[in-house]
Amino acid sequence: MKAVVLRQPRQLDWADVPEPRLTTELDVLIQVEACGICGSDLRYWEGDNPWALHTLGRHVPNPPNIILGHEYAGVVVKVNSPKYEHLLGRRVGVQAFRTCGKCDFCRSGSQNLCRDTIHMGHAQGWGQMDYYPGAYAEYCLGWADLLFPIPEHVPLDEAAMADVVCVAVHVAGRPASLGADVLCIGGGPVGLSIAQVAKAKGARRVFVSEPSPVGQEVLRRFDYITVIDPGADALGEALARSGVRAVSSIFDTIGSGQIIAEAAGLLAERGTYVNVAVHDTPVAFNAALLGSERTLTSSSNATYGDVREAYDLICTGRVNVRPMITHRLALSEYARGFDLLLGSPKQAFKVVLCPQSAGTGERSN
Ligand SMILES: [Zn+2]
Ligand SMILES: [Zn+2]
Repeated sequence: MKAVVLRQPRQLDWADVPEPRLTTELDVLIQVEACGICGSDLRYWEGDNPWALHTLGRHVPNPPNIILGHEYAGVVVKVNSPKYEHLLGRRVGVQAFRTCGKCDFCRSGSQNLCRDTIHMGHAQGWGQMDYYPGAYAEYCLGWADLLFPIPEHVPLDEAAMADVVCVAVHVAGRPASLGADVLCIGGGPVGLSIAQVAKAKGARRVFVSEPSPVGQEVLRRFDYITVIDPGADALGEALARSGVRAVSSIFDTIGSGQIIAEAAGLLAERGTYVNVAVHDTPVAFNAALLGSERTLTSSSNATYGDVREAYDLICTGRVNVRPMITHRLALSEYARGFDLLLGSPKQAFKVVLCPQSAGTGERSN
C-alpha cells in the first residue's frame, strides 16, 4: 500500500510499504478515508517526541520509519475474528491508542498517563518493527473494541477530528472548575476545540489569542469567542480592553517560556494555568505569581472517557469541527499539507489527507 513514511527528522517519503498485519483477535484493518495532520506530527517531523514529553516528562529519541497520522476515520475492511464480522463495511472513528489496563493509572481511569501505551501514528509502544503504523496510509490498524460508529450525517473527515476534540475534553477538565472567563493561548485546532468544549461546559467569556490571519478568520466564525492578536497586543492589554484583568482558566497550546511567564501573571486567585504543549525548556517567572492558590499544571493526551465524550460532542453537533478543516488534500499531496502548516504565518488551519482520493486539489470552507 501507499504510505507517507517519516524516515528521519525532516524527511518524509512517499513509499510502498506492506499492509499492516492483523495479529490479535481485536485487530481490524481500516481503509483510511481521512487523516488530519496534527501539530504533534509537525513536531515529530522536526525530531521532537511530543508523546514522550507529555507522558514520560522527558525526550525519547524517535525510531526511523514512522508512519505518522493518528487523527483518522474510515471503513472497516478486514477483521481477525468471526466475533467482529458485523463490523465489516462500517464507517468508524477510532480511538488511536490502547493502554495496558493493568497499571495504577489505567485502573484509576487515568489511562492518559499509562507508560505502556500503544499509539497509532506516534513513536510509542511498538517495539521492534520495520514501520511504526499510522494513518498517513491507505490502510491502518484499529481495535475492534475501540471503534465508534459514525452516523451517516457526519462526514468522516469531521469524525477524524475526534482525536483533537478528546484532547480538548481532557484539557478543559483539568481545572477544578472552569470559572467565568477562559483564555486560550494559541487558537489552532486544539485551541479552538478547547474553546468550544469550555463553552459547552459553562465558561462565560472565551478569549483566544492567535497570530495567524487564517486562524483568526476561522475563530471569528464563533460568536462567543473574542479573538486577540498577540502580534498587535500584549495579552494583558487585550484582555483589559474587554474589561478583564484576570481569567480563571488559561489553556496554553504554545508553551514557550515567555508565554508561561506572561500567562501566569493573568491568572485570577485560585485560577489554573494548563500547559498543553510541554517543551524541554527552562522557564523563569516570579514565584509570587503562584500566590492565592494559583495552579500551574499540564494536560496529557486523553482518557478513554474523554474519547467517548469527544465523539458524542461531534456527532450531536455540540462541538462544530467543520469550520476547522480548511484543506482536504490527496495523501500524495502530504508535502503541500506540511508546507501550508509550517509556513509563518501558517496558511492552513487543519489539513486533512484523504488517502482514497486521487487528487482532490483542495476545498476551503
Ligand atoms: Zn493529534
Ligand atoms: Zn496502564
